[in-house]
Amino acid sequence: MSSAALSSVTGAVAGGSGFREYVNHPGYEVVAYVDGGFEPPPSDWIPVLDKAAGVPFGRYANSSAEQVHRAVTAARRAQPDWAATSSTTRQAVLREFARQLEIRHDELIALIIRETGGTAEKAEEELGQSVTQLLNSATQLTENAGDILPPYKPGKISLSRAVPLGVIGLIVPWNYPMSLAMRALAPGLAYGNAVVLKPAELTPIAGGQVLAEAAHAAGVPAGVFSVVPGDGQGTGQALVRHPSVDLVHFTGSGEVGRQIAAIAAASMRPAQLELGGDNAFVVLEDADIDRAASCAVWSSLWYQGQTCITTGRHIVLRGAAQAFTEAVADRVSRLRVGDPLREDVDLGPVITERQLARFHDGMVAPSVAAGARVATGGTRDGLFYAPTVLTDVTPDMPVFTEEIFGPVMPITVVDTEDEALALVNRHHSMMNSIFTGDHMRGLALASRLASNEVHVNDGYARHGGEGQQRAFTRRQWIGVQTTDVPYPAWAESRSPG
Ligand code: NAD
Repeated sequence: MSSAALSSVTGAVAGGSGFREYVNHPGYEVVAYVDGGFEPPPSDWIPVLDKAAGVPFGRYANSSAEQVHRAVTAARRAQPDWAATSSTTRQAVLREFARQLEIRHDELIALIIRETGGTAEKAEEELGQSVTQLLNSATQLTENAGDILPPYKPGKISLSRAVPLGVIGLIVPWNYPMSLAMRALAPGLAYGNAVVLKPAELTPIAGGQVLAEAAHAAGVPAGVFSVVPGDGQGTGQALVRHPSVDLVHFTGSGEVGRQIAAIAAASMRPAQLELGGDNAFVVLEDADIDRAASCAVWSSLWYQGQTCITTGRHIVLRGAAQAFTEAVADRVSRLRVGDPLREDVDLGPVITERQLARFHDGMVAPSVAAGARVATGGTRDGLFYAPTVLTDVTPDMPVFTEEIFGPVMPITVVDTEDEALALVNRHHSMMNSIFTGDHMRGLALASRLASNEVHVNDGYARHGGEGQQRAFTRRQWIGVQTTDVPYPAWAESRSPG
């Protein structure tokens, strides 16, 4: 691609008044990074769009099955040596990887805004999480790497040690392309694995090319990390089905997750799946309505509602319903939707027409036809969807039963706490919130919710932390018999008589 063709587009987008000032990039080219080298594309270029402007600002090509094969083979070859490096070497490489991202801060913020359609706040969060994850993994890799097991035989010393899984095939979605890749890439590398990453088609720059460039500059050895941009059906399937991949780590939709789990099960290999959820926000009648409304708006509309922990259902006790609905609708009606490169914008575009049609035509419209009322929003201008509050939502409507993944806040009124509890637990959810003026009441209700995460008077999630060693290593038991012990007579090599 001639960079001139793209730079004029870049200039036009960032040129007007009211736009943030960032380093302009002349246009990105995404190629496969295999065994330490950037490779010419084997197929036609596909544009990467600036999601708000709708114009190309980069391009990528689908990696072939042959490139995936070479990436996995290189990973298999390089992984044992990488695992055998000293922890200080791996720490230094991971810290330099973080620094390589940090020194491109302004450029990467603009890139993430344009490639994902999120605001600068969202881009800062994503880049910040990515850098922090690298630094945390660099620290965690020196933590305890095993246990001494209780002796079960006299004279036997047994230890259980964490060893790398081997080659990780990593597949990520478009919403947080850099940080969702990093949450497996950084601990994966830290604990001595090799990683082959397939970024999402919509975000191969922040989710792939930039990571390859930073890792390369940081001195990650050839083969230890490769990137194969491409689609799910071709490139993704080639990675998932490759027999030398020891673990598939997948973040994305339940539908694709199910296919990947079936492929992994058929070849007796593990898969780690991070899927979606239909998360709920419960407001009890004694809640501080102002705080609840602000948190609800944030939890539902952050990044246009396109995260796996987005609140998709608001379940409100009748005594709080009117005040909560008014407070939420008031806040939402004042939000400004537009190009997130502008300073005066709160919400950017929905990622694609397909995604917008999925939730608007497939969920909002049929719910309204079934009796839900639009308190505010419900309109669109291209991919810019007015944030929407729906009232009179009943639990059988699509906006209640499905993961919306868009800027829509359905409100359902119930009469009792038990009714609220039953509705929350009826669906699979990742994170739920409860708002109440009584912390102990919140704690009691939280302990009856089935989700892995519940927040009383807040909505929050994090990734990383102490579970990562278990996720990216396996345990090996080594026993050393230090004394002579008898075996059954029939097994001893004594000749009879
Ligand atoms: P998606 O499942 O369509 O795609 C995710 C990734 O899988 C992409 O890289 C895609 O190319 C690849 N893929 C698609 N089909 C494939 C196949 N047959 N074989 C191999 N790879 C394939 O999901 P999406 O639309 O990009 O993301 C939205 C979904 O992700 C939502 O459901 C959301 O809840 C979920 N999500 C979950 C988390 C989490 O941490 N649990 C985080 C973000 C998003």
